[in-house]
Amino acid sequence: TDAIRPLIAGNWKMNGLKSSMAEFEAMLAGAGPLATKADLLVCPPATLVGAFADRARGDKVAVGAQDCHPKPSGAHTGDLSSEMFADLGATAIIVGHSERRADHGESDALVRQKAEAAWRAGLTAIVCIGETREQRDAGKTLHICGSQLAGSLPDGSTAAKLVVAYEPVWAIGTGLTPTAKDVEEVHRFIRGVLSERFKGEGAKIRILYGGSVKPSNAAELMGVANVNGALVGGASLKASDFLAIAAGC
Ligand code: PEP
Repeated sequence: TDAIRPLIAGNWKMNGLKSSMAEFEAMLAGAGPLATKADLLVCPPATLVGAFADRARGDKVAVGAQDCHPKPSGAHTGDLSSEMFADLGATAIIVGHSERRADHGESDALVRQKAEAAWRAGLTAIVCIGETREQRDAGKTLHICGSQLAGSLPDGSTAAKLVVAYEPVWAIGTGLTPTAKDVEEVHRFIRGVLSERFKGEGAKIRILYGGSVKPSNAAELMGVANVNGALVGGASLKASDFLAIAAGC
């Protein structure tokens, strides 16, 4: 799996205004040398996807979205479709983030529909899974991840169309991270599930680690077997941190 090109993806969540273009431009300015070793992706809020994608065109940082409705269009007030994000120049969509699973009660079945919606529009689906603290303490981590993978990943997943992000819920935004050994155990398990279900493609699908990744821990986490990059929340808001994390892979 060492031949898999890493992906460093930033999830800006509900942060960023028009004035954030300067921070994004700083990322573009520093991305050149890093793009030789990793793919870089920034997922700003929907309000900024178009402006960022326009600015990044032909540059070394791709732009993605954070969520989409399963349908392409219709009577769904306030929702946004994968086709709309593709139209703006996005190349990927994060689906199944734990904040959406928690805040909006998203089920595995809905996450799977959203991943299929991303594909329908020609975009890569970044599907997030991960256990809560309670589930980890109860020894259920692999069971939970297995059932989220089974329910959230569409048939026909390929390395071009799918990225899996393992994000322990208790590590998101908390400054806590699992040990390298724990990350390795879960990523090995995920690799096994992907290989079993998607055969040769499963061996190539990128598995990101997410949860309190920062410049000081990125290199260690990125060095773990079957960790093919990172999904970065808080630290992706600052160009210097995001670029330093990418430099660590
Ligand atoms: C995330 O929410 O995807 C995430 C990893 O957040 P943070 O890096 O802030 O923990």
